[in-house]
Amino acid sequence: MISVELSGQQIERLRRELRRAGNREIGGVMVAENLGEATFRLSGFSVQRTGGGTASFVRKPALHRRFMGRFFEKTGRDYERFNYFGEWHSHPCYPARPSSVDVQQMQKIIEEPGQSAHFAVLLVVRLGLRGAVEASAFAFRRGHAPVEVQIICR
Ligand SMILES: [Zn+2]
Repeated sequence: MISVELSGQQIERLRRELRRAGNREIGGVMVAENLGEATFRLSGFSVQRTGGGTASFVRKPALHRRFMGRFFEKTGRDYERFNYFGEWHSHPCYPARPSSVDVQQMQKIIEEPGQSAHFAVLLVVRLGLRGAVEASAFAFRRGHAPVEVQIICR
């Protein structure tokens, strides 16, 4: 099973962004450090605050490409260890689970010709009761059904 560690600071940042976005979906890309044994530590994520409706999020690839470029530069292009981890977005009005459209989009991302990532994770988040961040994550691989990713808060 794949697991991903999120820091308290990262969760705090998500909480702030979710609160600020209200009923609009926000999202971005995630980068992570591979700790081995299918364990990852989230290194960071981009935040796109525009382009989302109450039930849709359209990503702006240029924004995320810039974010990825900066990350690769900062980590010395050590792609084995530091790489693209996947996508995230919020569901302000729905449970923090991937919709059928989300699943289709992730399958499309991972099956794109020229896609070098072996898998991509989709993290779906929302603000729950009393401002708690609710989240689920699923890993998508070419030719496989999505599998749930364990989220560890450290
Ligand atoms: Zn969604």
